[in-house]
Amino acid sequence: MSLHGFKESTAANQCCFKCDILKEFIEEGIHHDLDDIDQIEYKRRCNQLELVQHDQCTFDNLSIKYGVNSRSLFDRFDRLDHFNIMKQVMYDPMHTLLEGVVQTHVNLFIQYCLDHNHFKMEELSDIISKFKFYDTNEIRCKPKLDMDLDLKKQPNNSIPLTSMQVYVLCMNFPFILKLLLKSSTFYAYTIVLTLTDILSMCFATEVHRIKSPELLKKAIDYHNIEFRRQYTKKMKPKFHFMKHFPGAMKDVGPLRYTNCLATERKHQFFKAGKTKNFINLPQTFAYRRGLWSALVNHNQDGTQSHNVLHGDDEAKLSGKRTNDNEFQNTIQMINLQVPPQALFKFIVKNGIQYNEGCVINTSTEHFPKSPTLDLVKYIINDGINFVFIYQKIKIIDYSVPVFIVQVTDTVEQCLFSNLVYKLSLKLVIIFNIRYVALHPYGIVYGARAYL
Ligand SMILES: [Zn+2]
Repeated sequence: MSLHGFKESTAANQCCFKCDILKEFIEEGIHHDLDDIDQIEYKRRCNQLELVQHDQCTFDNLSIKYGVNSRSLFDRFDRLDHFNIMKQVMYDPMHTLLEGVVQTHVNLFIQYCLDHNHFKMEELSDIISKFKFYDTNEIRCKPKLDMDLDLKKQPNNSIPLTSMQVYVLCMNFPFILKLLLKSSTFYAYTIVLTLTDILSMCFATEVHRIKSPELLKKAIDYHNIEFRRQYTKKMKPKFHFMKHFPGAMKDVGPLRYTNCLATERKHQFFKAGKTKNFINLPQTFAYRRGLWSALVNHNQDGTQSHNVLHGDDEAKLSGKRTNDNEFQNTIQMINLQVPPQALFKFIVKNGIQYNEGCVINTSTEHFPKSPTLDLVKYIINDGINFVFIYQKIKIIDYSVPVFIVQVTDTVEQCLFSNLVYKLSLKLVIIFNIRYVALHPYGIVYGARAYL
């Protein structure tokens, strides 16, 4: 923000650089859509500021009015207008959602449930820590809440979790709440689930050019209006900032690629570092960061770290043999062309792990009318390609925001390289009902209050 000359603090009354909303009207005007400031207007404001820069008082007044301290460096040196400040500078889902809206909303929701005896803190923390359906990628950032946690004492209505823990918690919230609240229905419960939809669309790897921004806008508007109704006077500027996400999605595509998770990880080093050297701090830190990066980005044997850079593809053989009776019966059903050479417990391709028993989305287009989900029974290799042999899944119903499914006996196969939606999903069984969450995904399926 400072690089682009905008006022940084949300304490400023002109708190949104994208439009002219004032902080005092954030909550009151949450249902209004103000026009975005465009590049022409931005330049006009900068010109106006530069004209009065020798008159401190007028400059200060204008600067407060526009929320602009100075012209963006990008605009100053970009004479050919290749960089559109008002479109290419944007709010990111990590700070706005994971460190803002989701934290505030989840904190208030938990507090509400505790106050109304829907569950106890011990039950919530117990279910979150013992939840057995976190997948391989989620387990690294598994959320953990303290039983003695006093949410009321948390600064800014937050919850003491890292961004990724908040992400994992929110993606699994529908399941965790089903375990906790069983079949209860109440208003606060309905609206907190909208967060999962919003997060899912904001972290999708692919989005539909028209449908996705439209759906995201509807979900955000619904969320904000209903949140205000439920928790009056608790709204923060970030609730308004996320109203600019659908526009950004329309302009640049999936918001997953504009979030700050990777850059935040990079500057953790500088934030956490302590030094007693005051002579040439930038040089010391630049040198030390190089060493640090070499250490964390590589395993002990010199190979690239699987945690930081997803590293090489991996595969682990399954204990089963190809002459196993059950396996032979299965492959006879699908008429396998090439005999399998090996059976795998899991494979890692481009940083994504596919296990035996995971769910894959075998839809042949990005956003079909109804997605095709399947349960992987075997992962095999025919010498050249990885092949998934799977049981077909029938979607029975849509229990917002997840699918209720049934696993059928029909067995089919598909090449790994033919998957359009690459992320691996999971089958969750709660009280004997089978669920699949198609998250993150560019659109939502099923009946929604906001549609
Ligand atoms: Zn705004």
